[in-house]
Amino acid sequence: MAKQSPPVKKNQTIELTFEDITHDGAGLGKINGYPLFVPYALPGEKAKVKVIKVKKNFGFGRLIKVTESIEERVEPPCNVFYKCGGCQLQHMSYEMQLTMKQKQVDDALKRIGHLENVPVHNTIGMEDPWRYRNKVQIPVGTKNNELITGFYRPRSHDIIDDMETCIITDEVSDRMVEAVRRIANRLGISSYDEEKNRGILRHIMVRTGQETKQTMIVIVTRKEEVPELEALVNELKETYPQLTSIVQNINPDKTNVILGKKTKVLWGETYIYDEIAGIKFAISAKSFYQVNPTQTKKLYDKALEYADLNGSETVVDAYCGIGTISLFLAQKAKKVYGVEIVPEAISDAKENAKLNHITNAEFFVGEAEKVMPWWTSQGLKPDVVVVDPPRKGCDQGLLDAIIEMKPEKVVYVSCNPSTLARDLRILEDGGFQTKEVQPVDMFPQTTHVECCAQIVLKK
Ligand code: SAH
Repeated sequence: MAKQSPPVKKNQTIELTFEDITHDGAGLGKINGYPLFVPYALPGEKAKVKVIKVKKNFGFGRLIKVTESIEERVEPPCNVFYKCGGCQLQHMSYEMQLTMKQKQVDDALKRIGHLENVPVHNTIGMEDPWRYRNKVQIPVGTKNNELITGFYRPRSHDIIDDMETCIITDEVSDRMVEAVRRIANRLGISSYDEEKNRGILRHIMVRTGQETKQTMIVIVTRKEEVPELEALVNELKETYPQLTSIVQNINPDKTNVILGKKTKVLWGETYIYDEIAGIKFAISAKSFYQVNPTQTKKLYDKALEYADLNGSETVVDAYCGIGTISLFLAQKAKKVYGVEIVPEAISDAKENAKLNHITNAEFFVGEAEKVMPWWTSQGLKPDVVVVDPPRKGCDQGLLDAIIEMKPEKVVYVSCNPSTLARDLRILEDGGFQTKEVQPVDMFPQTTHVECCAQIVLKK
């Protein structure tokens, strides 16, 4: 096949049968063995497709019309689904989303990790897979002299101007975004212009506590002095008495990063609080906090089950963030050590321990791959190591340290099946065995997959 030229040409319209779906949610169909990727096509379907890009070994197409559909295709409930970069799977039944995620994890383990016999359970889904997000960050722009708010189109910075609501976001947050936009618009506050690095209002961010119902608005501006800001704050707090906090974040830089260094409380509290499984968390404008607390509880329950603690264990939580997993485990362990690279997250973790009167958890700032070997040299011998790394997975140095430390169990929480599979292979080769993997749907309607794996030391 490699030497033949592609069997399709750009702009050609063809009929294609789809056999699979990629990890980013595109349908995959083949013509004489040549793969074409087509967003919004589902496996089992036939469709008319316009070829839009032809590369040597694969191409891309645009779905024109589904000619033979499958039962799992559903009408996306969001009015901007087909142009928004936020969700990818609203055209698919929720059952199918869960099956797809399970299969994706299973495939990665086999293909990348060469782990043929590890059971991957059915994905734990949500009863109601909508309005689950407790945080929204929406860019602000201008159209016809009016402020607009909306997510970007995929792979662009064009704001979708007819986004009425985001139906995976908490309803209160949604209303608050609308309120800030409307009032700021009336007060004549300008939107930020990325290209010229001019204007004021960059993003509106809202966070809510799912349990506590507390709400924080973060107004991200290019500069600190905004004359109309006081009027905006006054009107917000008077109109919406349920608000807990209004914060300004200043981001003067020409950058994609949403939040700048400086944060200033304009009214109300510095923190809002939330609770997961009875543990309280203080959340500031810049703290990392899981966006789907309902599913986080299910994920941590699984991690706890896999750690299988009886109260006598020493546990290490590498990549501990603000200590969410650490504090959860501390209730069942003798001692938990958390390590994390971001200093602010560690101060939050310490505060969260105090807030919950948890005294058997200690937190350290540092790179897990450096702190772990140092702990080993100091004679620390954990019974259980929990890792929850970013998408790129664990650092080789950290895996080496685990192999050296020989804990009885490793619990691996992962947001990327590919790096999970790669790291599990390294642990297997280092004397561990992967027992089972549980996918949990933390981000319904999107292609993101989260899972938890139980790994034990081979006897
Ligand atoms: N377990 C936490 C956070 C997981 S996110 C929770 O569930 O809330 C992954 C975390 O790893 C982030 O907080 C990130 O700052 C941290 N991190 C990234 N690289 C790291 C490294 N080399 N060493 C330690 N922590 C790191």
